[in-house]
Amino acid sequence: MIDKDLKIYDSVCTGCSACTEACAFPDDNGINPIQLIKNEAGLAVPRIDSDICTSCMACYKACPTEDKIFNNDVTFESYREKLGECYFGYSLDNDHRFEAATAGISTEIAAYLRETNQVDGVVSSYQNDANEIITEIFTDSQEVRKTRGSIYRQVSLLNGLAEKIEQGNHKKLLVIGLPCHIEGLKTLQTANKHLRKNVEFITIALFCKQTKTEEFSDFERRLLQAKPNQKINYRGKGWAGVTSVEGGRSLPSTNIKFSLNWGGFAFTPDYCFTCSDPIGVVADISVGDAWLRKYYADKTGSSLFAANSETGKKIIEEMATAKKIYIEKESVDNIIASQNTNYIKFKTSYVNERRVAFGDLDAHSEKVPQSYKRLIKWIKFNKWLYETMVRTKIVDFVPELVLKVYGRVGGKIFGILSK
Ligand SMILES: Cc1cc2nc3c(=O)[nH]c(=O)nc-3n(C[C@H](O)[C@H](O)[C@H](O)COP(=O)(O)OP(=O)(O)OC[C@H]3O[C@@H](n4cnc5c(N)ncnc54)[C@H](O)[C@@H]3O)c2cc1C
Repeated sequence: MIDKDLKIYDSVCTGCSACTEACAFPDDNGINPIQLIKNEAGLAVPRIDSDICTSCMACYKACPTEDKIFNNDVTFESYREKLGECYFGYSLDNDHRFEAATAGISTEIAAYLRETNQVDGVVSSYQNDANEIITEIFTDSQEVRKTRGSIYRQVSLLNGLAEKIEQGNHKKLLVIGLPCHIEGLKTLQTANKHLRKNVEFITIALFCKQTKTEEFSDFERRLLQAKPNQKINYRGKGWAGVTSVEGGRSLPSTNIKFSLNWGGFAFTPDYCFTCSDPIGVVADISVGDAWLRKYYADKTGSSLFAANSETGKKIIEEMATAKKIYIEKESVDNIIASQNTNYIKFKTSYVNERRVAFGDLDAHSEKVPQSYKRLIKWIKFNKWLYETMVRTKIVDFVPELVLKVYGRVGGKIFGILSK
């Protein structure tokens, strides 16, 4: 987050890079006064070179975290109302559906919009064989389909985007990212006149309750007996998919040692706890997993998704008619339930309290119930506990049954505290 004094708060920065793209004043050598660096925690954050910064405030205006925090009056009910038409469905290309993160909806939409010339390009990310995260503007629909899959790492989606748009002279783009990326894109548009006036964006957000730091991937490599820095395929091969490394081991991504990281919030960056859009209502379309018992039987891959704008709805219905995707209407409440209603309530309440607790920031005076404060304490404790078990390698010696009981009990406590 960048405040009005251009002070940077790493703890609540998502590393989206809207700030670097908003800066209008590179120096004579083309050096941008605001650049992303990796901080001690290994997370991408901006740093300003005050010698060449003109204090134009474009980075401040573009920072979505700042916007979220000071203007955020979201409540569970107001959030629920923002979810548009909801669907269950999947890509009708079975191989693609099987290889994708969930059911191939996101990259199927991307390929279709490109094939039918409804966009000039698609902004999408992937991990290359050297394990670097690459974000490109794809103009080839087959290439964009290959970016299917999940990246459980911090992605600086907008970094370098303004220049790539200018070079390609793009006028209409589809952008696929996490809700925080799409929020960054929206605030970037308000701060960057060229993008606001000349480029139209259609957006897809993945449902996201948390991403992960690099320590999470290091732990996965340990379990997969992979080489240091080897690329991990986090999902794909049906649903809920497998976690694998090329030529090496693979484990179901529901493996208890992996899944406890998610349920226990281990290796989740602090900024994720200050987010208030876990289902991505900020985007035209938001896409997630079908975590509802009635969909578990089909192992090829099933998605729940929402069209949060008329544009999104038109695309989904057009693609269903063109027999690219299968759709059935779903209810808003089922979409929320699939993501754990208690957790969605937690994330759509008392953002300032979360900002103080997880971002370590000084803020506000909100009336926060004791029960909410207890829930925050529980989340922090649980996070610390599982991270410690992983770091000390204690987790390697705990029988799976014990871990399963630990997960169940943790889930029950979360349920009770969030009532
Ligand atoms: C960090 C993270 C957390 C998630 N949390 C949840 C959750 O709590 N609940 C839930 O139901 N679903 C969650 N998802 C979404 C789910 O795993 C699928 O990504 C989603 O259902 C889309 O599946 P798909 O088959 O349509 O995507 P695909 O067709 O396989 O396409 C995936 C697209 O997502 C892009 N992408 C992947 N990872 C990232 C990333 N980190 N940043 C930006 N772009 C990325 C790829 O570039 C590609 O364009 C999460 C995904 C991620 C990456």
